[in-house]
Amino acid sequence: MISKELLDKIRNSHKYLQDNLKPLFNEMIEGIDVSIQYDAEAGFIICERDLEFIPFGHCMGTICDIDLSEDCKEGDRVGTYHSHGKGFTKPSIGDFYASLKHSDKILCVGAYKDVTIEVNSEKIKVPAYHITCITFNQKHRKYREAYDKILKTSEEFSKLEDVLGRMVYIEKKVPPKELMGLMSKLYEEFGKLIDSYIDEGVINGFTSIKIDWTELLKRL
Ligand SMILES: [Zn+2]
Repeated sequence: MISKELLDKIRNSHKYLQDNLKPLFNEMIEGIDVSIQYDAEAGFIICERDLEFIPFGHCMGTICDIDLSEDCKEGDRVGTYHSHGKGFTKPSIGDFYASLKHSDKILCVGAYKDVTIEVNSEKIKVPAYHITCITFNQKHRKYREAYDKILKTSEEFSKLEDVLGRMVYIEKKVPPKELMGLMSKLYEEFGKLIDSYIDEGVINGFTSIKIDWTELLKRL
């Protein structure tokens, strides 16, 4: 007999989250196609019901933004998926911020880009769908600390981003060097923070790649 407490630990483990995400991959890939077709981010919320994940609330955003703040109709919200179209699967600082604000355990990002494969020691670039998922272990003793620090750094970053955006787009001024320096310092700090919590096991991640064979044939 498994205790409720142990089950809770399992439900927060990377293995459980990773395994349960696999059945959603096809739908995530479709999201990438939609994203490219409409030049906008596309995604959905991931809900957990009876130890199974169900996609819910499919929506489309703008070219670089999507609102995934909805709650699940059935089951509990565990995370989100969105596509960056043609580009990077690396979640943005804003993506991390939104995930933590919702106390999500999962943050998945999809994108379409070439991948290098080796065939008979020859390196070849082929088109592929990429899905990167970050999982947060909320039962980890350092989760709370990670939560506070990541949120604080991303808040500082977005404040600075706003200031710079206003300067460039509204006031049409060239931002001072110090401000740009501060911005890149914060960006770097954020990356280091995430890396350190990956090392500690608070944050885990994996990337799944599916080669687009149809597109590859077209390139011949
Ligand atoms: Zn994003």
